[in-house]
Amino acid sequence: MALPKDAALVKDILRTMDYGPSPEANDSVRAWLAAHAGGFGHFIGGETVLSAGTKLFAVENPATGGKLADVAEGSQADVDAAVAAARAALDGWSALPGHARARYLYAIARQIQKRERFLAVLETMDNGKPIRESRDIDVPLVARHFYHHAGWAELVETELPGTRPVGVCGQIVPWNFPLLMLAWKVAPALAAGCTVVLKPAELTPLSALAFAEICRDVGLPPGVVNIVCGDGGTGALLAGHPGIDKIAFTGSTDVGRAIREATAGSGKALSLELGGKSPFIVFEDSDLDGAVEGVVDSVWFNQGEVCCAGARILVQEGVADRLAARLKARMARLRVGDPLDKSTDIGAVVAPVQRERIAGLVATARTEGGTVWQAAADTLPAQGCFYPPTLITDVEPAMTVAEVEIFGPVATLTSFRTPDEAVQLANHTRYGLAASIWTQNIDLALDVAAKVKAGVVWINAANLLDAAAPFGGYKESGFGREGGIEGLSEYRAQEYRAQVTSEAPAAPSPTAAKAAPVPALPPIDRTAKLFVGGRQVRPDGGAIYPVLDPAGRTLGEAGLGNRKDIRNAVEAAAKAGAWSGASAHNRAQVLYYIAENLSARADEFARRIAAMTGGSPEAAADEVEASIRRIFRFAAFADKLDGRVHAARARHATLAVREPFGTMGVVCPEAFPLLGFVSMVIPAIAAGNRVVAVPSETAPLAATDFYQVLETSDVPAGVVNIVTGDRDPLALTLAEHDDVDALWYCGPAVAEMEKASAGNLKATWCHAPRAEAPLAAFARDRAVLERATQVKTIWIPYGI
Ligand code: NDP
Repeated sequence: MALPKDAALVKDILRTMDYGPSPEANDSVRAWLAAHAGGFGHFIGGETVLSAGTKLFAVENPATGGKLADVAEGSQADVDAAVAAARAALDGWSALPGHARARYLYAIARQIQKRERFLAVLETMDNGKPIRESRDIDVPLVARHFYHHAGWAELVETELPGTRPVGVCGQIVPWNFPLLMLAWKVAPALAAGCTVVLKPAELTPLSALAFAEICRDVGLPPGVVNIVCGDGGTGALLAGHPGIDKIAFTGSTDVGRAIREATAGSGKALSLELGGKSPFIVFEDSDLDGAVEGVVDSVWFNQGEVCCAGARILVQEGVADRLAARLKARMARLRVGDPLDKSTDIGAVVAPVQRERIAGLVATARTEGGTVWQAAADTLPAQGCFYPPTLITDVEPAMTVAEVEIFGPVATLTSFRTPDEAVQLANHTRYGLAASIWTQNIDLALDVAAKVKAGVVWINAANLLDAAAPFGGYKESGFGREGGIEGLSEYRAQEYRAQVTSEAPAAPSPTAAKAAPVPALPPIDRTAKLFVGGRQVRPDGGAIYPVLDPAGRTLGEAGLGNRKDIRNAVEAAAKAGAWSGASAHNRAQVLYYIAENLSARADEFARRIAAMTGGSPEAAADEVEASIRRIFRFAAFADKLDGRVHAARARHATLAVREPFGTMGVVCPEAFPLLGFVSMVIPAIAAGNRVVAVPSETAPLAATDFYQVLETSDVPAGVVNIVTGDRDPLALTLAEHDDVDALWYCGPAVAEMEKASAGNLKATWCHAPRAEAPLAAFARDRAVLERATQVKTIWIPYGI
């Protein structure tokens, strides 16, 4: 038998043990693209929409620079049509039995599996990521998401009782995981009974268009999924569209902030998955070889274009040099090149503009004193958009590369001495998306896991993702979760219960008791002070205002707080951090004590309420009784707000722990001066937050009387702070304050508050006042407590 022509080559390869080329075939993708040579249209109402006059934009392969396709750019008319199609489909889709929706999701999952190879090649050509990753990670996870959520479609009615689909969802995704981010958004929305309009990134729309074909092929009812392509302008049209009930966005923090501002006051639900600058913490007792592979998975996976990349390596001093040396040795073996080659580790960066950005940040690191080490820099392909794996050492926390998200294959390395210093450095960022902790000491790992401010924590692992595990950020990395029942809940709205009392007291008329500073007026009752840091204090400006009954008679006076008072109160709340660390049992004990003391003074509170509101004595007594019951309920719940253990990957216990935000601003409704206050403040502290509360402006005396209850109930100083006065200006100060981590607001200025909260992207829960607000909106105790917490997902190795 004659030897094949390349026998010598094989022999040489065996001698050098070098890689031979191993390209993945792309014929089927090229044929598909050729079949759409006239351009790809949008997918609206189950049809491809591409009219003769449609503006097209070119989509390129970043590994070659060659054009792959022309794609329609979404106009206002396209977005209108897509939203109308989703609206028209909503009733039918949400009315389907969960089992029917599950069948569609199951069919989509099956189709994704059947087209796995095609989708992986397409994603690699469009995005530049190595085929090994799109084939083994992205596409299998996409299928997993649809399977997992087929299950949720089946279960949602029984597992999330008292909820309904949010409605029509606008979903905007970035270019780094085009199909996977689509799956993270579309699968839970459909399972929950919502319909969607999705905009893929301008750079990478092709897998979303292939997904549209799957929707059509499985017979998904027209309009349930709509896809409109285009750039950020199209995204803005979608985010601002009045026909949308919820926006789910993944992308940069800057755009997330703009969307927060644009949607403020619109009533749209919002979830934001934003940028990160995640720490990768290596303690000196860790398995260093494991940690090196962790960095590979964390920073060089997907060219480092990963929001949760652990690109900020923090290493304990004793092993810093050893880790750096091993990383360099490993980097030298990373293969950068043709993404379609099955042996490639690092493919092409998504576009020249991104590569220039990465190169610019690395150049800045050099000028700021960092030492830059790059592997494979001289073996990069001559053509295409490639950047070498890069390690920057001698990085100080204040340097640009230590603060700014690079979104490329670049890691920085900074050393620390003690675990406390590691935590300080880890939290020294405006982001809070993820953290990776490496140590063989379980006590240390879990201690640090509790202290890092991040939505996802991996112990001795990195970048583990699964449909069952909630994912999302703290701080400026956004709010809301994707994955698990927590992510599903983002697509369900609470159905309000009917009122729980038959006789609701009338709301006092704001005009009858217009607050006006009257510093000279002599007190008739007594002058209620503010309550800050556990002490009754005079307002900073020394001013007071009269509290009038509905007939205009003066009932008493309250302090007229100002911005400085709010700032003092926030400072006092920050100092009361021990409350968040107290056991839930202890917090429950304090809450019971509050209820007990309020009960002892029930008559006095009822008289006060009746005088302020002009309601009947019976209604006032009902309000006090309802308040006591509510406190009991939240005391009962305080130690039952369990997290979950998710069945995500094998050999991991994946915990979803509910943590308090920290300091919350709570702005209470005008009506129901005691019940409104209690219904908002008590759950916030039950969950472990410290609160700065602004009570009813026209009827503040129930809240100021309440601080006497707090003083006698073992509530630690600073846990509840009360600032009375002009409610909305005070609320605005809370909304703007960077040390306030979450804001609950009940009042007319929802838009203003939501917009002002964009500064530090604090989580908000704002609603316009409604007669039944405190009685009904707050009646679902568990849902309220969940709104008072954020989920931290902790991946712990288990049974390895
Ligand atoms: P961008 O924020 O620029 O874009 C994200 C998406 O939003 C794209 O579809 C984009 O359109 C669209 N968009 C841009 N401007 C607007 C606007 N004004 N209104 C509405 N939509 C708009 O991010 P990138 O695409 O550049 O992705 C990289 C960033 O995304 C990184 O910062 C990364 O950290 C973050 N990210 C976060 C993730 C997370 O889960 N937290 C996951 C992945 C990425 P187009 O691109 O077509 O112009």
